[in-house]
Amino acid sequence: MEEKKILSEKQLEDLNKVYRNKPIEDLLSYVYTTFGDKVALASSLGVEDQVLTAYCMKENRAIRIFVLDTGRLNQETYDVMHKTMENYDFKYEIYFPEREDVEHLYQKKGPQSFYESIENRKECCHIRKVKPLTRVLSTVDAWITGIRRSQAVTRQHTELFEWDNTFNILKINPLAYWTEKEVWEYVKKEKIPYNTLHDQGYPSIGCEPCTRAIEPGEDVRAGRWWWENPEQKECGLHFKDGKAVRKKDLES
Ligand code: SF4
Repeated sequence: MEEKKILSEKQLEDLNKVYRNKPIEDLLSYVYTTFGDKVALASSLGVEDQVLTAYCMKENRAIRIFVLDTGRLNQETYDVMHKTMENYDFKYEIYFPEREDVEHLYQKKGPQSFYESIENRKECCHIRKVKPLTRVLSTVDAWITGIRRSQAVTRQHTELFEWDNTFNILKINPLAYWTEKEVWEYVKKEKIPYNTLHDQGYPSIGCEPCTRAIEPGEDVRAGRWWWENPEQKECGLHFKDGKAVRKKDLES
């Protein structure tokens, strides 16, 4: 089996210095020249990934772009997936969870066990996201993501090139220093197709049952697994029409 290409800390540091003030096209060109088909862009069909897809389509059409279809995505996400494929005349690599895993989960716990506990939510994410991602990452030496520093406190130290300790692989974040404004300006300028959920208050898009629009002023990731907010943990889980909801929605 071929060994994975591993960069030293010093090499990562140097790359971060070199590409900090260079155009994204140069960075992608370096990445493609160095890794070829051993690098892939992970697309969640969110706006940052759409920007990176547009760059790849312009500069390096051969860069692999993959989507993890958890089986629980919003229709709007499938719409933008379809539109993007038509727009650029290309095909994503699509990865699904293992059939046996999902069947076993449903038979054991039903279709929405993720609302019942953090452990159950992690179990579902493991089956539908982590395992398929691990499968894809076993085929590459590096992966590209749309992570930006200003997306969350936990992302504020994101570098262009960094070692991903979770998956033990080089992670490349070409948009690390971009602001949200820059992302949207680029989308408008280049007429890039984007997920219409962004226009409905969803800055961050994941699976349909686990993502909702945020209120003005809320953290951009507040709509993800919202029932795990500290307030909800204290009050227990609230349901309305069979869906978990925030306490104030119950009161309205
Ligand atoms: S986000 Fe929700 S539906 Fe999607 S994999 Fe995680 S728990 Fe399951």
